[in-house]
Amino acid sequence: MRTAIFPGSFDPFTVGHYDVLESALQLFDKIIVAVGYNSSKKGFLTPETRVEIIQQAVAHLPNVEVCTYSGLTIDLCHTLGVHHIIRGLRTTTDFEMESVIAQANKKMAPDISTVFIPACQEYSFISSTVVRDILIHNGDAAQFLPKGVDIDKIIDRSGISK
Ligand code: ADP
Repeated sequence: MRTAIFPGSFDPFTVGHYDVLESALQLFDKIIVAVGYNSSKKGFLTPETRVEIIQQAVAHLPNVEVCTYSGLTIDLCHTLGVHHIIRGLRTTTDFEMESVIAQANKKMAPDISTVFIPACQEYSFISSTVVRDILIHNGDAAQFLPKGVDIDKIIDRSGISK
């Protein structure tokens, strides 16, 4: 079975992330969405809530798993026995940053390759930062979040409403 991991902060998971995930499922039999977190950085949502939100978005996809991790993505790959990392590319800036990371990862772990998936035009401007700003300022973020995601849960858990 060809398996890849799709790592990211996913704070929160957006339609842009979902689109990359759907494309990745055309290439791999199974995708593990891995929520990376840094224990010294407070996110908008806790890693556990981010996982719950992703699980809502992928509930109808049997070949997707969701987990959390901290530390190096290549270490997670080795722990899981996975040889491919999926990353999405929106802009040339993404490309420049991502290619540096992919090259460093390749140097450290020659058995692991990064697969880049371009953003579709419709979603290329969408980022978690934009979605967070919309939510914080009471805007309607529904069209930027995948179907099945409970926006009220995001608002509740993020503490915006308090
Ligand atoms: P990170 O902090 O690791 O960059 P993100 O959650 O911001 O985590 O993004 C995870 C991955 O999804 C990255 O590869 C990013 O480039 C990609 N991505 C984010 N938004 C989009 C989008 N709208 N379209 C395509 N790829 C995206």
